[in-house]
Amino acid sequence: MRRSSLELSDILHAQGAAYRQAHAGRLSLGQLKVMAAIEQCRTAALGGHVAACHDCGHTRIAYNSCRNRHCPGCQGAAAHAWLAARQADLLPRPDEKPPNSEPPFASPPPCPHCGGIMAVIETFLPGTQPRAPPSGHVIVAIAS
Ligand SMILES: [Zn+2]
Ligand SMILES: [Zn+2]
Repeated sequence: MRRSSLELSDILHAQGAAYRQAHAGRLSLGQLKVMAAIEQCRTAALGGHVAACHDCGHTRIAYNSCRNRHCPGCQGAAAHAWLAARQADLLPRPDEKPPNSEPPFASPPPCPHCGGIMAVIETFLPGTQPRAPPSGHVIVAIAS
């Protein structure tokens, strides 16, 4: 899957080290942390999972996102989580179910090919790669 436009993480991957070197001593710890988070967002550095479709066998690798509120790729997810948390603060109505607190990989989105149920067949830790990368996989961010 080709991304249509350049993202901040692409720029940081290409120029982040040089930028840090050029501005050594002038970047705050907070700024360095944000840069590191965005550089690692949705890469093997943060781990992830492999999901497979029960029906057609389509597989997909999903890398974990950094969830840093300064990360352009995670802002939408962070805002969604914030909204969900505020809604959880509201007084519950007796007929409402409790908010879903399961981890994001518990129910991957349906198969993009056939709409079948995707099941997690492998999770991998930060800094590691899946044992058997499936061919033709699509890298997606975990919606959080
Ligand atoms: Zn399928
Ligand atoms: Zn991110």
